[in-house]
Amino acid sequence: MFDKILIANRGEIALRVIRACREMGIQSVAVHSTADAEAMHVRMADEAVCIGPPSSTDSYLNHAAVLSACEVTGAQAIHPGYGFLSENAAFVQAVEDHGLTFIGPSAEHIRQMGDKITAKETAEKLGIPVVPGSEGGVPDLATAKKVAADMGYPVIIKATAGGGGRGMKVAATEKDIDTAFSTARSEAKAAFGNDEVYMEKYLQKPRHIEVQVFGDGKGGGVHLGERDCSLQRRHQKVFEEAPGPSISAKERARIGGICANAIAKMGYSGAGTIEFLYEDGEFYFIEMNTRLQVEHPVTEAIFGQDLVREQIRVAAGQPLSFTQDDLSVTGHAIEVRINAEKLPNFAPSPGKITQFHAPGGLGVRMDSALYDGYTIPPYYDSLIGKLIVHGRDRPEALARLWRALGEIIVDGVDTTLPLFSALLAEPDIQSGDYNIHWLEKWLAQNLED
Ligand code: ADP
Repeated sequence: MFDKILIANRGEIALRVIRACREMGIQSVAVHSTADAEAMHVRMADEAVCIGPPSSTDSYLNHAAVLSACEVTGAQAIHPGYGFLSENAAFVQAVEDHGLTFIGPSAEHIRQMGDKITAKETAEKLGIPVVPGSEGGVPDLATAKKVAADMGYPVIIKATAGGGGRGMKVAATEKDIDTAFSTARSEAKAAFGNDEVYMEKYLQKPRHIEVQVFGDGKGGGVHLGERDCSLQRRHQKVFEEAPGPSISAKERARIGGICANAIAKMGYSGAGTIEFLYEDGEFYFIEMNTRLQVEHPVTEAIFGQDLVREQIRVAAGQPLSFTQDDLSVTGHAIEVRINAEKLPNFAPSPGKITQFHAPGGLGVRMDSALYDGYTIPPYYDSLIGKLIVHGRDRPEALARLWRALGEIIVDGVDTTLPLFSALLAEPDIQSGDYNIHWLEKWLAQNLED
C-alpha cells in the first residue's frame, strides 16, 4: 500500500480523498493555486504545495507542476478526483513514465473512452446496447442530411471530444440541420480544439441512468447498480438518486451484469461509470466516464461501500474488498448539488461566506469545503457542496432532504439551495416521474421570466 498520496484537485472532492487516505493510514499531499492558499483542502491535508497562479491551466492542469509536487513530497501515487486531469491520457502516461501510480484506469482505457465514437464502437463490441446513430464521424452537411433522413428526425449532433454538455445541438426537422450542424462544430472546435461531430437519434423522453462499475485490473469486474441523474440543466446534473425510481431489481441485475462483464473483458482497472439513456424499458449507451463521479456518494450510501478506498486499493494492486454477491442495495439515497449561483439565471456568485452551518442527523452527509469566512474564488467550477441523504426508502429520503434543507445555512453568496426546496414541493419529484427534459421545462415555467 502507498505511504503517501498526492491529490491533484481542490474543493470538496480533494477533501473526500483526504478523508479516505486518513482512514487508511496514508499521508496526503494537497496541491493548490495561489488563489486557494486558504482553502480547506490545504488545511486538512498532511502537506500542501503551491503549484501556480489562479488560472487552472497554469496550476491544477499543469502536468509538470503536479509531477514536481510529487517529487518534492515523495508522494507515490496521484488521485485526480473528477474534472481537471482525471481523464487526461497524456497526463496518465507522464505519471507512469515518472514511476508513479495514477489512481484510475490505464491511459489506453481513458483514450478509448474519451473519444466518443471509439467509445461507442467499443461498447457495441462488448455487448452494450447503444443509441442508434451515424457510423463514426459525420464530415459534412450533406452526410449529416443523409444520416438524419435515414434515421428520421429529431436528431442530435454531438462533439466526438465532447464533455460537460458542450458541442451538442438538436435538429428537430430538416430546416434546423444546417444551423445545428455548423454550431455544434464551431462549439466543439472552441471547447475541445477538435470539430469532429457524430449524430444520434434524439430520444424524446428518456431518463439518464448510469451504472457504477469497478474493475480490478486483472479481468474481474463488478457493478454497484445505477443512479438516475435525469434532473439536468443544460445537460448538467443537479439532483441524483440511487436506486433509480424507474429501475426494478431485475433490470438492475440485467444492465449491471452487462456492464460488469464488459469492463471485465476490457481488463478495466478502478472506478468507472457507464451512462445510458433509458426509454420504454430499453437502455442506450451514450458514454463511459473513466473516473470517480461527483454523484458517487449516493451509490456509497445504498451499498455501504467507500469507493475512494476501493480506487486506492485497486491502484495499489490489491483485490476489491467485495464480490458481486457481497453487494446489495439498502434503502434510497439522494444528492443535490449546491452551486454558488444566483437564481433564476444561475449566474456565478463567488465571494465570502459569512456564515456556514452544515446539516446533520441520521442519514445526512454533507460533502463540502466551506467554512465561515471562506472566500469562494471566481476562477473555478461553481460547485461548493453536495448534500446527500439516505433513508430506508424513497419517501424517507425525500423527507430527510426536506428536513436537511431546512437546517443548512450558506450566507454571503447566492446558492442553488432554494431550487431544491421548490422541487420537493412538486408531485412529479415526489413520485419520481421525470425525464431529462423535466427540469428545463419546470425552470422555464417557474423561475426564468
Ligand atoms: P457530455 O459528455 O457532454 O456530458 P453526454 O453524451 O453524456 O454528453 O450527454 C449529456 C446529456 O445530453 C444526457 O444526459 C442527455 O440529457 C443529453 N443527450 C445526449 N445524447 C442524447 C440523445 N441521443 N437523445 C437525447 N438526449 C441526449
